[in-house]
Amino acid sequence: MRADGSTTGGGAQVTLVGAGPVGSLLATFLAKRGLSVEVFERRPDMRREAISAGRSINLAVSTRGIHAMHELGLDEEVLKQAVPMKGRMIHSVSGQLAFQAYGKDENEYINSISRGGLNKTLMTAAEQTGRVKIHFNKKAVGVDFDRHMLEVEDETDGTISRVEYDVLIGTDGSASAIRSEMLRLPGYASSESPLNYGYKELCILPGEGGSFRIEKNALHIWPRHTYMLIALPNFDGSFTCTLFLSYEGSPSFAELTSRQDVSRFFNEQFGDAVPLLDELEDTFFTNPTGHMVTVKCEPWNVGGRVLLLGDAAHAIVPFFGQGMNCGFEDCTVLNEILNRYARTTAIEWQEVFSQFLQLRRVNTDAIADMAVENFIEMRDKVADPQFLLRKAVEKLLENRFPGEYRSRYALVTFSRVPYRLAFEAGLVTDDILAELCRGLKSADEVDFEKAGQLIRTKLAPVLQQCWQELSMSKG
Ligand code: FAD
Repeated sequence: MRADGSTTGGGAQVTLVGAGPVGSLLATFLAKRGLSVEVFERRPDMRREAISAGRSINLAVSTRGIHAMHELGLDEEVLKQAVPMKGRMIHSVSGQLAFQAYGKDENEYINSISRGGLNKTLMTAAEQTGRVKIHFNKKAVGVDFDRHMLEVEDETDGTISRVEYDVLIGTDGSASAIRSEMLRLPGYASSESPLNYGYKELCILPGEGGSFRIEKNALHIWPRHTYMLIALPNFDGSFTCTLFLSYEGSPSFAELTSRQDVSRFFNEQFGDAVPLLDELEDTFFTNPTGHMVTVKCEPWNVGGRVLLLGDAAHAIVPFFGQGMNCGFEDCTVLNEILNRYARTTAIEWQEVFSQFLQLRRVNTDAIADMAVENFIEMRDKVADPQFLLRKAVEKLLENRFPGEYRSRYALVTFSRVPYRLAFEAGLVTDDILAELCRGLKSADEVDFEKAGQLIRTKLAPVLQQCWQELSMSKG
């Protein structure tokens, strides 16, 4: 402790705020480079105290997230507890089921994992490096950018201490305190666009002996045009269900004020789910209504001293299942840049941070926009016959033209091509599908010769750029 009440970060070369999934993973990346890392986490240690892991009990992890964990040798351990989801299972109002595969074959699927389980594994992995110290119940409440001091409040007794940092990285999520502090500086700006939809988590309990009461290997969707219910499987046989519904209007959370309202709404709209949902009305009123926001801000750094990363820099809505995957990819990219800029012994942090912003911002903006678009696809289009025809044609093209045709969904979910290029490729595939589906009654009627021509002239240049940029980032 210094005379002015401050402490140093214990000689830490990097100080992180937030030990969520992204902060914990980043700590391990930095530690494996030989850096010492201190992490200040607002919550108690979830490995010792039973606390909620926060938003969404489970989430989907896919190629970008798996790749980042693989770089640290953590993917196998994490995926042991995952449930593969091979496609969407659509539930109509009358309870009819229709399965839409995500990938071109059985090997392409996304993985449902427990957020809490994942976070615990990643915190333990960080500590096991021997270079990471996580301080729990320590909430960042202020930053003095001139003196390089972080102000931390102890959540157990309210005491405030000041911690000196060399390099500070805010991985403190969508409501980042570090971002708020940066926004006080001249030239810093942020746009926060809340979705006017909330979400409510519900639960389907496991069947006898931990069995799954609905199809295990699927992400279930009850699409109802302006709103939807979804369910993701958990390893123990249960499903976490999430209702996404407007705050106002009809139907909306504002209308569901009594047990009868909730019961009537669910029976009318999600009849086949009702017998499975555990204590529907009680859970509905006990669980909080979650909010969703898209955050875009710039810059993400203060010189070579402070950086935002993960949701703190670019929170997105959850409809592409990419928020955490994108945050994990941030770690991969930062690590790649560090490999390039860590000359001799000193790291040129300012160059590293500038390069990181330049490489990432355009991609995180692209996934933010695609995530909003995907909400409309999930809640509305998946039940539209025209959309289903296009999806069926798309599947035929992916199999007929392997390597030459890739859907936007596949580029985002099953590859690591920059999100920006996946977005651009999606515009081209939309045009190609529109042209091929014009006047078509069924997918088998598709004109493959014309498809081949369109793919070679329109899509090939974009995909070529995708593979080129990907191989450059590997090199
Ligand atoms: P967070 O997970 O928010 O972690 C931030 C950490 O910082 C927390 O531990 C918090 O306690 C701590 N903290 C906060 N403030 C302070 C402070 N002042 N001082 C100290 N510590 C602090 N993503 C996917 O990839 N796939 C999905 O399927 C998916 N589904 C989702 C479903 C829902 C309903 C929602 C809301 C999100 C979903 N996401 C999904 C997005 C994903 O949850 C986030 O992108 C991810 O959690 C971001 O990780 P993070 O570590 O950056 O932030």
